Amino acid sequence: MKCDSARELFTALLDQEIGLHDAMTVEAHLRDCLACQVIYQEQKMQRTALQQQLTYFQAPAELAQRIKAALPSTPATSLSVTRRPRRWLNLSAIAASFMAVVISAGFYFMQPSATERLADEVIASHVRGLITNHLTDVASSDQHTVKPWFNGKLDFSPPVRDLTTEGFPLIGGRMDYLEHRAVATLVYRHRQHLISLFIYPAQTKVIPRVSSGITQNGYHLLNWSQDGMNYWLVSDVNLVQLQNFKVLLTSTTPNK
Ligand SMILES: [Zn+2]
Repeated sequence: MKCDSARELFTALLDQEIGLHDAMTVEAHLRDCLACQVIYQEQKMQRTALQQQLTYFQAPAELAQRIKAALPSTPATSLSVTRRPRRWLNLSAIAASFMAVVISAGFYFMQPSATERLADEVIASHVRGLITNHLTDVASSDQHTVKPWFNGKLDFSPPVRDLTTEGFPLIGGRMDYLEHRAVATLVYRHRQHLISLFIYPAQTKVIPRVSSGITQNGYHLLNWSQDGMNYWLVSDVNLVQLQNFKVLLTSTTPNK
């Protein structure tokens, strides 16, 4: 693929509106072409900045109504500055500070939460594994092969369970990066669906748990903490199956 053709597809790739074949071709080109990497990263940053900018202006209609209601109905132009009564000055000062408060509150609440951002990261990692056909660094259904593979690569030892007899065979494991740290990813299969399980030590920073699951872009996610570890499950398998899988994972003893 030539640089020009690759660059034409950057926007589609960023918007995830690209076919699997094109995505793989562009990503392959990006791996080898530093010039395109720079342009791609710039577009990605611009896009993020733009999204944040757009978010800023998405104040709910209710907020606008409350601001309007708080403002005096008399138009300011009908009074000269010198004759403006004290009460009106106070009112406009109150209205201005109220407006500042609601705008910043609106801005605050419109920001994606830490959980949402992390959920996005989890889906992106899972999909990247699928697209690039790089789901595992160590391909094995043997927990006694997968668990030691992480030795020396991570500062913790992830619990590894093979659940083949329960219908969720272990496919293998890989290193990944989530929440600014290296994490262990285990890959399981359920019928034709692939499931990624991300594991890393629970930090002091509390990520809200989503016990009932999140559904985003056709993927289901579950997260929980157990024995000092954080877990994220992601798959396109249906939510009930994913919850069953979570029950199996949390109730069986991992290989030590
Ligand atoms: Zn290029």
